[in-house]
Amino acid sequence: MNITATHINLYHVCRRELWLHANGIRMEHTSDVVAEGKLIGELSYPERSERYTEIEIDGVKIDFYDARNRVVHEVKKSDSVENAHIAQVKYYLYKLRQHGVDGATGIVEYPKLRQRELVELREEDVEAIKDWEIDISGIIYGDICPPVIHSKICRRCSYYDFCYVDEDTY
Ligand code: SF4
Repeated sequence: MNITATHINLYHVCRRELWLHANGIRMEHTSDVVAEGKLIGELSYPERSERYTEIEIDGVKIDFYDARNRVVHEVKKSDSVENAHIAQVKYYLYKLRQHGVDGATGIVEYPKLRQRELVELREEDVEAIKDWEIDISGIIYGDICPPVIHSKICRRCSYYDFCYVDEDTY
């Protein structure tokens, strides 16, 4: 299984979610969340399709890449800037670099916040990403689903009912 940007994102959110996703366990409303995010992206940046192309490297799909300026765009519907989003875009930059595109940068757009975060790939990121990949492989091929993390983010997670089925509320 190729490591994807979704794996990188989930690795920074919750290892249990990473394992569940990678092992094909899906919850219904995930698709709604994805659709909402896509819609926000399309409505907020209708001109994007003219400037950006979709590319795929080793199974890692970059939806919006501006080849002329070497800029990756990523739109998040979230109402907060999250480390996982930055990590995901760093992974795109890492993959581009692996395939000979040096010096690409990224922009994470947050339409709800009217904010954008600039992302660069530093040397220390490259080393960290290699470690993420090793760690992620260990998790997704592991026989044991990692434990529930009991975090406030669980309430917004599509696996909430699955994870807390034996508990009243969290
Ligand atoms: S509900 Fe919480 S523990 Fe379960 S997968 Fe989601 S974030 Fe992880």
